[in-house]
Amino acid sequence: MTEHVIILHLHELTLKGNNRSWFEKILIKNLSIHLNELPYKDISCVSGRIIITNINIDMTRDYTESLSCVLGIRNFLFATKVDLDLEKIKVQSLALFSNFEKSKTFRVSSRRQNKNYKLNSQEINCIVGEHIQVNTGLKVKLKNPDIDLIIEIVNDKAFIGKEKIGAYGGLPVGTGEQALSLISSGIDSPVASFNLLKRGVRLDYIHFHSAPATSNQSIYNVESLLKVLCRYQLKCNLYLFPLLDIQNKIMDTIDSKFWVLLFRRAMVKISNIVAIKNNYKVLVSGENIGQVASQTLSNIVAIQDSSNIPIIRPLSGYNKEEIINQAEDIGTYKISIEPYQDCCSYFVPPNPETKAKLERIRFQEKKVNLDEMIESEIFKLEKKEIKLHE
Ligand code: ATP
Ligand code: MG
Repeated sequence: MTEHVIILHLHELTLKGNNRSWFEKILIKNLSIHLNELPYKDISCVSGRIIITNINIDMTRDYTESLSCVLGIRNFLFATKVDLDLEKIKVQSLALFSNFEKSKTFRVSSRRQNKNYKLNSQEINCIVGEHIQVNTGLKVKLKNPDIDLIIEIVNDKAFIGKEKIGAYGGLPVGTGEQALSLISSGIDSPVASFNLLKRGVRLDYIHFHSAPATSNQSIYNVESLLKVLCRYQLKCNLYLFPLLDIQNKIMDTIDSKFWVLLFRRAMVKISNIVAIKNNYKVLVSGENIGQVASQTLSNIVAIQDSSNIPIIRPLSGYNKEEIINQAEDIGTYKISIEPYQDCCSYFVPPNPETKAKLERIRFQEKKVNLDEMIESEIFKLEKKEIKLHE
């Protein structure tokens, strides 16, 4: 009986020297969770690739959907496993061409891990290519063909398939420690978060809202966004904090041009408390240099000054268009453009400070006793778990 498998090629894992097997182990564990509901026999690492055996070839769409979200994979290939025998390779290769129009072009791309095999890659390409050409009449085209037939020779087996499917690459989630991401329901922070997930960092999230002065919509939107981000990480924690009382005190006491910066410093200070207690190494933010008046370098300095741990800003150098494209690609854009009242923009004054001087900000902050206020309000923090599959 023909055995169908999926061969996964890894991204930067090839660079990781002695740590390699540790990375592979985490990737295999992630894969087994992502493929939880799909049939297969075994996932193992063979000569730098990961092979998923005995899959159900009628469910390629389901496997594709799941595997496309597993970070650390560069691409994958649905393939058939045959014994390392030239006749069998020719027969199986030809079988993949049963439904193509005569006008299509093809090439054979073989790779040989088993260097003891009597034929090298180039010889396999020529022999199998000729066999297909003679039997189908299709033309060979080495650059950008319609069909790329792939033959991989690993130990005493050949794996044959066509068209590798690209994935996000990066590193497996869980190989890069833990961080806490400040998530709004806007476009930027989900994209910033995805970029760190892609570097292997496990994320939990914190969202600040101003209910009941604003509706609960931002909370629902954030939960929907995290459901999308859970395609890549499967589950995460969301901390929710009601910022309204702190905001009211700031607005009652301080000149309006400092409001947004003080709201931000309050968010960062509360996030620090959560991070230090739960061992999140850094905070993540969707800030982007110059995107809005509040995101000048001076203001970024004034916000960082309120944090005892680094704030990573993966989007600081992106253009808005690049962020939107990525938001569409990862599936968060549609939710991010749904209307909501953000806890900062709702109260935005007409002329916010754009070049904050640290001393002045610290002085204003003392006037409201921000640290004491946070200490007495921190009990309002809530935590909930978000999962891809409830
Ligand atoms: P976004 O699209 O991510 O909301 P933005 O362009 O609207 O970003 P700001 O509103 O200035 O920019 O927010 C900058 C960053 O501050 C956000 O990317 C996010 O990391 C954090 N942030 C803003 N509002 C909140 C909030 N209500 N809760 C948690 N974090 C927030
Ligand atoms: Mg925002």
